[in-house]
Amino acid sequence: MDTASINILLVEDSASDAQLLEQTLWQLGGERWQVVHFKRLSDAIDSCSKSTFDIVLLDLSLPDSKGLNTLGEFYAAAPNIPIVVLTFDDEDIALQAVAKKAQDYLVKGQITPNLLRRTIRYAIERGQILKQLRESEHRLRAIFEQTFQSMALLTLEGIILEINQPGLNLWGSQQQDCVGKPLWELESWNFSSTNQEWLKSIIAKAADGEFVRHELLLPSANNVMVWIDFSLKPLKDETGKAVLLIVEARDISDRKRAEAEVVNAWVQERELNEMKSDFVSMVSHEFRNPMTVIRTAVELLELYNHQLSDQQKSQYFGKIQTAIRQMLQLLDEILFLGRSDAGKLQYEPTPLDLEHFCSELTQTLQLGASSKHQIIFSFQGEQTSVEVDENLLRYILTNLLSNAIKYSPQGGNIRFNVLCQDDTATFQIQDSGIGIPFKDQQRLFETFHRASNVGTIPGTGLGLSIVKKCVDLHQGQIYLQSQVGVGTTFTVKLLLNHHDAQSLELVESY
Ligand code: ATP
Ligand code: MG
Repeated sequence: MDTASINILLVEDSASDAQLLEQTLWQLGGERWQVVHFKRLSDAIDSCSKSTFDIVLLDLSLPDSKGLNTLGEFYAAAPNIPIVVLTFDDEDIALQAVAKKAQDYLVKGQITPNLLRRTIRYAIERGQILKQLRESEHRLRAIFEQTFQSMALLTLEGIILEINQPGLNLWGSQQQDCVGKPLWELESWNFSSTNQEWLKSIIAKAADGEFVRHELLLPSANNVMVWIDFSLKPLKDETGKAVLLIVEARDISDRKRAEAEVVNAWVQERELNEMKSDFVSMVSHEFRNPMTVIRTAVELLELYNHQLSDQQKSQYFGKIQTAIRQMLQLLDEILFLGRSDAGKLQYEPTPLDLEHFCSELTQTLQLGASSKHQIIFSFQGEQTSVEVDENLLRYILTNLLSNAIKYSPQGGNIRFNVLCQDDTATFQIQDSGIGIPFKDQQRLFETFHRASNVGTIPGTGLGLSIVKKCVDLHQGQIYLQSQVGVGTTFTVKLLLNHHDAQSLELVESY
């Protein structure tokens, strides 16, 4: 500044004042100053776009602008030029001007060469420092605003001083609604006083100098719950005392979801493994029981062939046959499942007298049931001749009816209602047995799933999963209503007379 010449923009409508100033500058070494003089503010502002000035000496009373307005307009047009205001003994307005962007002021008539030099130099230096500060503030603000992270600045008491756009997006507020408010009054926090108290407590911790970080589940802008990585960092002064708090919040819902999926997959995998080994031991057990019956009966028949009466012999043969039937049924179920899993199960509709079919099935099952159980069959409908896949339907109904019997150990009536209307057959099987706990109901149609209240009632957990596959092949629906200790109703709705049902193979390939 001492060697290069300084460009001064002088805005002064009084020719004599302007002359006086130029003379004073001349006394300070004319070659060091380049002065461009204008009388009107508008001309001065225009010139700023054409030339560069190091400083402006600005009279506030001009023909086209008066008072602090002059300062305001000039600053708006050329914010980087340091301003020294020229006044006429009006300290008051001069001080206001300094408060509003002017670097300094000079009182006309009291301007000595030294004062002028010092004022110009300080104003330029201060202007440069301010410019650097502004640029640095710009850079920091850009980072603050442009980061994808939600950020806010709080006082030690938790009052919001600044909040960036991602923060506003996350908390669903407007800048003007947030600034000046305690953080815990934003919507995401104020829905629960426990949360608010917790937030106040961690703000107090951070104000004490501690870095606090937590993962939280909070409602966001549109009331969607989001997982947030939330931290409060104390900003300390050179003595190490916290002066402000920096809040950072990052939506980590995606990460949480991915974590949950991994855990879920792991849990499912483990469950599946457990179920498989349960299944293997259950199947072995289910086979072993009838095998033991057969072995014992055969041994007895072999050893005591001559001592046994014909009646005793036929009793043992009967036991062997029942045991063989049980094993065959189990084998059938496993094979059925295997076929359906391999996509080999077909839907093959044939004409069927539905009422007759159901009534015969009822009689067969009734024969196998104990006298404590009574199956009450009823049929309603305009038509009884339908087209369905007889094998699949037999499977469905046999399974549901035998479940109803099996899971009513104390006996009782089992209602089997069939309603055949339009193109739909509705089958309802209602028992008053042990019922199914609500928590188990969802997964009963999955293979190997059994309810938690089965106790010692035998079963493999395969029946319903097969039923479900058969129902799907009919493009039907199955649902259940159940209450523990009261009973269970299974309802199956099947589309009748449709020929376009797909094989499971096709269904599964989608
Ligand atoms: P199986 O393969 O021999 O049929 P299961 O009867 O255990 O074995 P599913 O028929 O698939 O298997 O039934 C699954 C589970 O649903 C049963 O273990 C039982 O917990 C529950 N359940 C099914 N029907 C009834 C019912 N009518 N009342 C109470 N619980 C039932
Ligand atoms: Mg069953």
